[in-house]
Amino acid sequence: MSVFKYEKDADGIVTVTMDMTGPVNAMNAEYDVAMNETVDKLEAEQGLTGVVFASAKSTFFAGGDLNMLLAVKEEETEEFFNGIVATKDRLRRLEKLPVPVVAAINGAALGGGFEICLSCNHRIALNSKAVQVGLPEVSLGLLPGGGGVVRMVNLLGLTDALPYLLEGKKVDAAKALKAGLVHETVESLDELVPRAKAWILENKDSEEAAQQPWDRKGFRIPGGNANSPKLAQTIMMAPAMLRQKTRGLLPAPEMILDAATEAARLGFDNAQMVEARNFAYLACKTPQAKNMITTFFFQLNQVNGGGNRPKDVEKSKVAKVGILGAGMMGQGIAYSSAMSGIEVVLKDISQEAADKGKAYSEKLLDKRIARGRMTEEKKADILGLITATADDADLQGCDLIIEAVFENMELKHKITKATEGYLADNGVWGSNTSTLPITQLAEGSSKPENFIGIHFFSPVDKMPLVEIICGEKTSDETLARAFDYVRQIKKTPIVVNDSLGFFTSRTFGTYIDEGIRLVQEGVHPIQVDNMGKAIGMPVGSLTVHDETSQQLSHKVISTQKDMGLFVEPADGDAMTEMVNWIYGEHNRGGRHHGGGYFDYAADGSKTVWQPLVEKYYKEDHGLEEQDMKDRLLFRSVVETLKCLQEGVLRSVADGNIGSIMGIGAPVWTGGYLQFINTYGAKKFVARCKELQAKYGNRFEPPAIVVEKAESGELFS
Ligand code: NAD
Repeated sequence: MSVFKYEKDADGIVTVTMDMTGPVNAMNAEYDVAMNETVDKLEAEQGLTGVVFASAKSTFFAGGDLNMLLAVKEEETEEFFNGIVATKDRLRRLEKLPVPVVAAINGAALGGGFEICLSCNHRIALNSKAVQVGLPEVSLGLLPGGGGVVRMVNLLGLTDALPYLLEGKKVDAAKALKAGLVHETVESLDELVPRAKAWILENKDSEEAAQQPWDRKGFRIPGGNANSPKLAQTIMMAPAMLRQKTRGLLPAPEMILDAATEAARLGFDNAQMVEARNFAYLACKTPQAKNMITTFFFQLNQVNGGGNRPKDVEKSKVAKVGILGAGMMGQGIAYSSAMSGIEVVLKDISQEAADKGKAYSEKLLDKRIARGRMTEEKKADILGLITATADDADLQGCDLIIEAVFENMELKHKITKATEGYLADNGVWGSNTSTLPITQLAEGSSKPENFIGIHFFSPVDKMPLVEIICGEKTSDETLARAFDYVRQIKKTPIVVNDSLGFFTSRTFGTYIDEGIRLVQEGVHPIQVDNMGKAIGMPVGSLTVHDETSQQLSHKVISTQKDMGLFVEPADGDAMTEMVNWIYGEHNRGGRHHGGGYFDYAADGSKTVWQPLVEKYYKEDHGLEEQDMKDRLLFRSVVETLKCLQEGVLRSVADGNIGSIMGIGAPVWTGGYLQFINTYGAKKFVARCKELQAKYGNRFEPPAIVVEKAESGELFS
């Protein structure tokens, strides 16, 4: 029996129900066989009126086989190219059948799944949030190679197709209908296949209904082809604009733009060959695709799926959360919790401060309403979940209390003692500290086994990551419950062990530190920031320090020194020297404290603070660009390796996901550990040694990577 169930009814309509082995339908070897047999059979069918493609799974069709895409090697490029051509050929035969073919889209149809839909003459989708269509390949360093680029350009025109192709934009059924990606929607699943059949019967005598628009006589691409004067501007400007965005680090958008432009220039079948060639190049020859598939698909699923969650603890849900401190972080945590339907007690030292924290949620909800993404009733429901208070007693019965008061050990100890009694039996205490060791903070608790770090990132409503930190005494049950809460509020939890700065702050600090060292060695501050951006960091290291603030660094360093926790860095303490000078002597505490390395004008523009240049800049600093770039990148990679070696990181996936989602590691690397897999561990060790000889011991390759270089194993 084929995994594509084939049924012909009395009207001569064949329904092909895709029901592949495993939980989803996907483009793999099994698909190739099933689709081939199906198309053969359809072509040979007598008395055929039309065809419906449906799915027996809850999703319509998931897309490409990522295991295969990950495994394919450079020397297999030709074979891979031939495979793509065969896949395209099957879909081309499907759309050229002399009868109408209809896609009955019951659930997500993404990537290859949507390419099948695009090869059907008519697309009907269930009007449900579960239905999503789109071509997200670009987010995995790939392009839609099953004809997706060419068909989208022919369907929508180049200008309208580009956002779907270059940004991987996905839309639900209603938006897909509006955009012309599907032709109609139905309200219930039961209507879906019957409506598809009805459409076939209504259109069985129409020649057009059985033809794709691009195969009809006199077809013109919407908006014109590549020679159209209207498109000249787009075609001329798009590559430059794209380059500015990707900084040349991401080949997939470039290959997509190339294939899309060719689709508007060449005939349909020739353009398909360009698409196949570009896809083969990306999949077989670029490290970016391997990095992005590994991290953004497999490892993200591993992390979100509970790879780090103790297995034998039952799943839990938080019904009531207490948040102490309604400042920048507390108010964001309150919003994210209430948005997920959790009752929130938001407590600060005065009613006024607590109300101010709640007003933040109101502001964000109003923005949603203004964008048409929320109703007034829903807003009232969500705000109704948040109780702003100055009274500890309101915390009674919380399943979880998250403390987000000032970063001060004594204060945090004091409030833990004062309020942990309000927790429900076995309730969890979480601290949102960004720097203080969890084990020491837990000394303020009578139940250190129920104490854990739940480290959010700012702004909480936008940042998808949460770093969960286990102290020495944190129990498995507490970890599991903190993990479940983070998933409940739809964020991604990485789990790390206690260490100064945990994983994220510690690694992020090295990026800032290396930028400071470059300045101190005479590189111009603008160039330092540009080098950071050139490796793919979202923001230059000096600018980011201005944002996080020199004042905070000063405070953190002083606290660590007072507590005897400060570790003298290898190669001298550049950070303390800089912070003491710029903040201690010149009171430049950062962007929000009147300026830091830069001065900020009211319009958001910035200029370098001149004394910084006067003190350090040397025109003949003699540093090569590649060295500067590698220093900025390798510092963070080496620190991540140390975190893995020391057991701060519990898994490679956490290191990759945490570095990308928490601290802005360049996406092309797939995270700071995955970077080594495709750069090559041997080459990495050799380059570290060069940098060590030239610039200092902070580049010494940790033993864990030296071992990988010798064994040839990957970080996985
Ligand atoms: P903030 O200064 O904006 O807010 C702190 C709030 O705590 C203030 O509203 C203050 O009134 C309140 N507070 C003080 N004592 C209190 C008490 N006894 N009871 C109740 N409320 C009290 O600070 P923030 O930036 O929100 O940081 C809070 C915590 O989160 C700190 O531990 C910080 O290290 C950590 N953190 C901050 C960031 C960030 O980017 N700002 C990121 C991650 C973690």
